[in-house]
Amino acid sequence: MPEIKAKSLIRDVPDFPKPGILFKDITPVLHDAAAMHEAVDLLAADARAKGAEVIVGIESRGFVFGMPLALQLNLPFAPVRKHGKLPYERISEEYALEYGTNIVEMHIDAIEPGQKAYIVDDLLATGGTARAAARLVERQNGIVVGFGFLVELSFLNGRTAIGDYPVCALIEY
Ligand code: AMP
Repeated sequence: MPEIKAKSLIRDVPDFPKPGILFKDITPVLHDAAAMHEAVDLLAADARAKGAEVIVGIESRGFVFGMPLALQLNLPFAPVRKHGKLPYERISEEYALEYGTNIVEMHIDAIEPGQKAYIVDDLLATGGTARAAARLVERQNGIVVGFGFLVELSFLNGRTAIGDYPVCALIEY
């Protein structure tokens, strides 16, 4: 794939949020409408090809890519949020982090049985968050047809952790 404009805009921030992490700051991409159009168009084309019927975005940077994608495809958008943020009845998934655990949640009416879901986040690292989002969709009897990311940190092997699903990542490190 030829290099997309977003790649030249992503900023490396060392030691954020803790020592040893090289954080990929995507906020300069949000600032550039042409780069955002290009990235959203490419992810939308993948989601369309996979037959997506609902776009699932992972808090919080998955929202800024997932929502424009849903609008472009005229599809519903369903948020996956961190623990304690969703007001209505919800289901939860806990997953392991390097130290400790994390919990993500979805409203119980976010996905219809049999609905084809395309899950979006800004970045695939170890894959734990994405895998938990897939479980939330499947517990509502949805079908995960694919994942879309702006960035993949391929040395962390997130694709393997996610399992047997199609993954589209626009930029790979
Ligand atoms: P993971 O569950 O390990 O795949 O982590 C994915 C989530 O953590 C995504 O929502 C990313 O936004 C965030 N994340 C993890 N590592 C980084 C990084 N090096 N730079 C920016 N965001 C990251």
